[in-house]
Amino acid sequence: MENEKSVYGLIGYPLSHSLSPLMHNAAFAGLDVDACYKLFPLEKEELDAFFEDLKKEDSTIFGLNVTVPYKERVLQYVDSLSPYAQKIKAINTIVITKDRKLVGFNTDGPGFLAHLAELDFSMENKRVAIVGAGGAARAIISSLCLLPERPQTIRIFDIDRDRARRLLSDLDENMDVGVAEVVKSIDDMNIEIADLLINATPIGMKKDDPCLIDPELIHGNMMVYDLIYNPAQTFLLQVAKEKGAQTANGLGMLFYQGVLAFQHWADIQLDQGIKDKMRESLEKGLTS
Ligand code: NAP
Repeated sequence: MENEKSVYGLIGYPLSHSLSPLMHNAAFAGLDVDACYKLFPLEKEELDAFFEDLKKEDSTIFGLNVTVPYKERVLQYVDSLSPYAQKIKAINTIVITKDRKLVGFNTDGPGFLAHLAELDFSMENKRVAIVGAGGAARAIISSLCLLPERPQTIRIFDIDRDRARRLLSDLDENMDVGVAEVVKSIDDMNIEIADLLINATPIGMKKDDPCLIDPELIHGNMMVYDLIYNPAQTFLLQVAKEKGAQTANGLGMLFYQGVLAFQHWADIQLDQGIKDKMRESLEKGLTS
């Protein structure tokens, strides 16, 4: 990592409520590195010029995160991809080398897996039901399919069935997605016998959002993972808790994808003390 006035940041649109600056700036402060993390809310038309500037020798930007809606669009600007990013064709992290070469990574799926490992949840032979087939689901499903200890089944439902089918056929080009299946309704997800239910839709972010899943289907032997972290407890998580299920919100995934991104930029392993500062900053940011 460069240690003089280096800039890191997040590109996407819109970016109003991002917690990433808190987490990464906490790490810079903890490491005593003179760098900062900024938000770059960019409209589509601004991307070409932004990436052209990024390649210039005098640019002070050395690392980026990428969020909605650009995780796939920015592939055209990078010089190379990690083997995993190559497989899923979406990136959320860019490392910019000293000679201004751009290398793309994806830490969303690995971040999700790291959080589940922290929760001591093994995927081996598990029955997974995932609602939503957008960018987050793509990262999660691909990392599940690439695990040596794979789930037994992954049932995917999205209101846009073609989107879910496209997701699987895209991944099928580069990995074995045999355990995954697109289903036509929530009823076909077999939630009543699932070990892990994942909400990968934005349903639950708004106060008056309905419960995504019929509460009758949720049971005490499952884990319910909601990718949403604000609010910390969605209606779905509240119901799951009442039913005795293990629950988790998406703050852990956000944290781990950030740690992994930072480690790519810095080319170091962060020690536990720095990771704790990053996590505390996220938790504080949510409650403030
Ligand atoms: P996205 O690309 O918009 O995908 C969401 C998908 O869910 C869309 O295809 C959407 O269809 C579908 N959907 C909406 N309502 C549905 C319903 N009732 N039943 C079934 N499918 C439904 O979003 P994303 O980027 O994947 O993000 C999904 C969620 O994960 C968001 O809440 C986001 O904030 C969260 N997230 C969290 C993290 C983390 O680190 N914790 C990381 C990434 C994303 P339509 O487009 O037709 O509505």
